[in-house]
Amino acid sequence: MEPVVTANRGETLSGKRSGRWLIGPQARTEGYLIYYRCTCTCENATVKEVNRNALLNGSSQSCGCLRAELSGSRLTTHGMYSAPERRVHASMMTRCTNPKYHEYHLYGGRGITVCPEWLGNFAKFYEDMGPRPSPEHQLDRRDNSLGYSKSNCYWATKNENARNKRTTIMVEYKGESKSLAEWAELHGLDYHAVFYRYQKGDTGDRLFRPSQANPAAYKLYPPS
Ligand SMILES: [Zn+2]
Repeated sequence: MEPVVTANRGETLSGKRSGRWLIGPQARTEGYLIYYRCTCTCENATVKEVNRNALLNGSSQSCGCLRAELSGSRLTTHGMYSAPERRVHASMMTRCTNPKYHEYHLYGGRGITVCPEWLGNFAKFYEDMGPRPSPEHQLDRRDNSLGYSKSNCYWATKNENARNKRTTIMVEYKGESKSLAEWAELHGLDYHAVFYRYQKGDTGDRLFRPSQANPAAYKLYPPS
């Protein structure tokens, strides 16, 4: 499937693709919202005015054909049409991308993001996470200071989830005690890289030595 479109602030989306949409010229504005005339690349070639935010956050990726196909074939064969995983994905999106959500300040509002692969892409989310093992399980992040991604997420039972929320790795360094995530940030190091060293048993200066590797690489390919 085509990825969700990305653009710099102020950059036009015209001429780009997002999901199945072929984004045409700007059609109108509604307050601050810009609507683009979009054509779906499915056989219906449906034309619709779609707003910029919906294109950027992936909430609109087709004329509706995509949803119909997913529910019609793959999802129903796997009994997933009304699957709980879909609701889990949707509420994750809401927590991180909808400023009107009452707990947005705890998620998107404090920089907790959904990785680009999962943004508006339920199929990819499901592929990475697999089915929820039981109704007792919920989506949890290993490190609560990091966002939602394949490397940071797992299905946790409610008890595990509660325990994880209480466990923060505290590290003493130069007489001060801070969370590992906080130390990583202070040293300008990628958390995954520091966590990896911590697991190997590194301490002190060795734990926080400058990173030679491209820190971004750890985000994409966390050491395991
Ligand atoms: Zn379509």
